[in-house]
Amino acid sequence: MKRVNKFRLRPTKEQEKVLFSLCEMSAVLWNKLNYVRRQAFFEGRFDWKEGVDELYDEFKKIIGSATAQQIIRKNDEAWRSFFALLKLQKQGKLPPHIRKVSPPRYWKDRLLNKRKLMTVIRNDCYRIEEVGNKKWLVLPKGLRIRITGEIRWEGKQGRLEVFYDDLTGRLYAYQSVEVNQSRRTVSSKRAFVDLGVINIITAWTEGERQPIAFSGKPLLADWWYWTKKTSHYQSIAKKINRVDTTKRIRKYYRKRKLRFRHAINTIVYRFVKLCHEKGVTEIVVGDVGGIRQNNDKNTKANAMIHNFWSFRYIINRLITTAENFGIKVRLVKENHTSSACPFCGTKGRRITRGLFHCPKCYQIMNADVVGCLNIAKKCKVIIPNPSRRGKDNRVLTHPAVLMEDCKPPRKEPSPFRAGRMSNANAHPQSVSERRSEPQYERRC
Ligand SMILES: [Zn+2]
Repeated sequence: MKRVNKFRLRPTKEQEKVLFSLCEMSAVLWNKLNYVRRQAFFEGRFDWKEGVDELYDEFKKIIGSATAQQIIRKNDEAWRSFFALLKLQKQGKLPPHIRKVSPPRYWKDRLLNKRKLMTVIRNDCYRIEEVGNKKWLVLPKGLRIRITGEIRWEGKQGRLEVFYDDLTGRLYAYQSVEVNQSRRTVSSKRAFVDLGVINIITAWTEGERQPIAFSGKPLLADWWYWTKKTSHYQSIAKKINRVDTTKRIRKYYRKRKLRFRHAINTIVYRFVKLCHEKGVTEIVVGDVGGIRQNNDKNTKANAMIHNFWSFRYIINRLITTAENFGIKVRLVKENHTSSACPFCGTKGRRITRGLFHCPKCYQIMNADVVGCLNIAKKCKVIIPNPSRRGKDNRVLTHPAVLMEDCKPPRKEPSPFRAGRMSNANAHPQSVSERRSEPQYERRC
C-alpha cells in the first residue's frame, strides 16, 4: 500500500534561493507543457508527444534531466486521469462527489496571480539521512537540507514532491512510500457503521450488547467557532478594504478545515483501533453517496452538511486507517436504513432529537443505532430482539457515547464585541474542561 511521509524543509538562505529557483523553473515547464496540451485539447487534436521533446531538451539544462522528466511524467498522469474521468462521465458512471471534470490546471495561484512553487524529485535522486536526532535531505548538486518531521512509513521510497506553502511561508516535502504489510485474518467478526453529523460514527460489532457512538458535537462547536471568526473578518474586509478575501481569512478557512480533519482523523483512528482490539476483520459502512438528507431539526448541523461536510473524506479516511490495521472496509448502499425498524421491519418514523419510534415494538430507539443495525440486517446478521424481555443477549438501542475533544484554540484577542464575547468564549472553555480520554456514558 502507498503512504506518504510529510517533512518540513528548513533550508539556509542560500539553499532557499536554489530551491525557489528550481521550483519556479519546474512550474514554468509544467505550465508551458500544459499550455500546449490544453490548446491542443480544446482544438480537438490532442497529441501526447507534441512539444514534449523540445521542452525536455530546453529544461534539462536548467533543472536537470531527471526533474524535467518527472514533471513531464506528472503532467502525463494528470492528463491520463482527466481522460479516465471524461470516459466515466460519458458512460454516466461518474462518482457522485465529482460535479465537474476539467483539464489539468496550471501551477498558478489565480487569486495572487503567482506561480505555485513546487517540484518533483525522482526516487533515485534524493535520500534522507538521519544523524542522531537530526534529519537531512540530500539532493543533487550538493544540496543538504535540514528537515523536520516524523518518518512514519518505512519502505521503498517513491518520488519526493517539494512545495512552498504560501499561507505559512514554509517549504514542505511529501515523500511517497510503498509499504509492505501482511494482512491477518484470524476471526471473522464484522462491525457495522453508520456515519452521521451529531454522531460521526455509530457502530455495532457482531455479538456485542451495546453499540458505540463517537459524538461530533465538540467538532460542530469548534467548526462554528472558526466560522464566526472568519465571517467577522470577512465583513471588515468587505466594508473597509473592499476586498472579498485576505490572507488572514484564507488562514482561518484552512485552520477550520485542518481542525475538522484532525478531529475526524482522531475519531476514525480510535474507532479502528477499538475494532482491531476486538478482533474485527471487516468494517461494513453504509455508503451515503454524496450529501445525505438530514431529518434532524438541528439547523447548525444542516447548514454544515450543505456547505461543508464531507462524508467522502470520512469514508476515505476510514478505508486508509483500516488498511493500516489490516482491516477490510466494505461499502453498502444505504437505502431505507433509517426508516424501518431493525427488529421487526415495520416502517417507523423519526421523532425529535435523532430518535426513532417503532409503532409495532412500542420502542423509542436512537436513530443512528437504527441505521447501523439495519446495515447489519442487510448483511444477513440476526439481531437479538430487545422486546423479548428477560433475555440478556438483547441489543440495546441506545449507544455508549464516546466524546472526542477538539483542542481548545490558542488564546487570541477576541474579534467579538463585549456583548457577544461570552457566547464566543463559551466553547473553548467548556472544551478545555473535558477530559482528554474517551469517556463512556449512557445516553438516554
Ligand atoms: Zn419494530
